[in-house]
Amino acid sequence: MIAGDDALLVDAGLGVRRLRTEIEKRGIAPERLSGILLTHEHIDHVRGAIPFARRYKVPLFSTAGTLETLFAQERRDAPYQILPAGGEVGVGSFGVRSVSVTHDAVDPVGFRVSFGDTALAYATDTGTVTPEFREACVGASLIAIESNHDIHKLRFGPYPDSLKARILGRHGHLSNNAACDLILSHASEQGPACFWLSHLSEINNTPRMAMNYWKKRAKAAGLLPSGKAGVFGPAVVEVALRDQPSLVYRTRTRAVQLALF
Ligand SMILES: [Zn+2]
Ligand SMILES: [Zn+2]
Repeated sequence: MIAGDDALLVDAGLGVRRLRTEIEKRGIAPERLSGILLTHEHIDHVRGAIPFARRYKVPLFSTAGTLETLFAQERRDAPYQILPAGGEVGVGSFGVRSVSVTHDAVDPVGFRVSFGDTALAYATDTGTVTPEFREACVGASLIAIESNHDIHKLRFGPYPDSLKARILGRHGHLSNNAACDLILSHASEQGPACFWLSHLSEINNTPRMAMNYWKKRAKAAGLLPSGKAGVFGPAVVEVALRDQPSLVYRTRTRAVQLALF
């Protein structure tokens, strides 16, 4: 996320060199980042975290459980600040709240990040939409929500039964179905917002499937198509690609870039 010359990163799943390149492409010097927020310790979220934090002296923010596990995993320390689930902290010019999610990690969280009167909510890697995350979405203009798998594609796909059960379980991942449930309830209760379907499985989903599923659900719910792809009623829905930065969200006055994860 970028605000003026201040920026922060949510997760650091890429290697340190690629992270640096992507950040510099957006006009930010890596050492200018105010912090890296970590959702949990799985490798696709932390690959570059410690080397980046050490090299550029950028603090990692996460729960004690996530940070302890990460430091033990890598056997190296880095600048950090503990942010317990439910806690709030200022990171540069951003206000950050961490919110509990349910995932098979030590103490995983999502985030609500605010800047001025703009707020965004972010949760991937969660088997359920927790009440804390729902609350974090109130008033947010951008909601990045996991849309990991198509339930049928997963059920009839190549994964072993134990892995299928893990993904479908309370501590697994949200399906396209679950993401659409959140979007529809948010749209009817809270009005306009932009949603990024995120953390798509390479095996059990495709961007097209996720988008088509949303279209089907939006039509069934009676939301009127605007004529623009993915936009139905008050909900602007886009799909974040898994292997490259793909989406940019701009507020009227400032840019918020959240495409690296
Ligand atoms: Zn993940
Ligand atoms: Zn995970």
